[in-house]
Amino acid sequence: MKTKAIYPGSFDPITFGHLDLLKRSCKIFEDLTIAVVVNPHKKALFSVEERVAMIRKVTSSFSCIKIDKFDGLLVDYARKINANVVIRGLRAIADFEYEFQMALVNRSLNSRLDMVYMMPSVEYTYLSSSIVRELASLQGDVSKFVPAYVEKKLREKFKYAR
Ligand code: ADP
Repeated sequence: MKTKAIYPGSFDPITFGHLDLLKRSCKIFEDLTIAVVVNPHKKALFSVEERVAMIRKVTSSFSCIKIDKFDGLLVDYARKINANVVIRGLRAIADFEYEFQMALVNRSLNSRLDMVYMMPSVEYTYLSSSIVRELASLQGDVSKFVPAYVEKKLREKFKYAR
C-alpha cells in the first residue's frame, strides 16, 4: 500500500522546529500533507489563510509537500484524504504524555492510522510557536526561530520594526 503522511498542527506560525521535522520527513515520505488545524475554539494569532500562505512561502523548495487545512477530527480527515501515517514532533518529556494519549485514542478510532514521532535538532527542542508569539509581542528578536518571511509577518502583526 502506498504511504501517505499528514503533518497536522496549528502552525501559528510555522517555525524552524516545524521545518526541521519537515526536512527529516521528506527524506522518508514522498507524499506528505501539512494540514493546518482549523479550531474555532482556539484563538489564533494568524488566520488559517495567513498560516497557509506562510507555510507555502517557506516550504516552496520541498517537492514532497502539499498544504491543506482541516477541521473536526484528525482521524476523519486522514480517512478522507486516504492517509495512513501521522507525523508529530517530540520536543521534551512534556510532549510525550499528551502524544501518547492522542496516539492511542486515534488508533482506536482509525486502526489504519499510524503515528510517527520525530525529534528535532537539539537547538529546536525548546522552540514552540507560542514562545515565538510571546517574544514577537514584546518586540523580541525571533530571527533565530523563524524564517525571515515569517519574522516580517510577525512584525506587521505586532506593528514594530527592527
Ligand atoms: P499543535 O497545536 O498541534 O501542537 P503545533 O503547530 O504547535 O501544533 O505543532 C505541530 C506539530 O509540530 C506537533 O507535533 C509539535 O510537537 C511539532 N513541533 C512544533 N514545534 C516543534 C519543534 N520545535 N521541534 C519539533 N517538533 C515541533
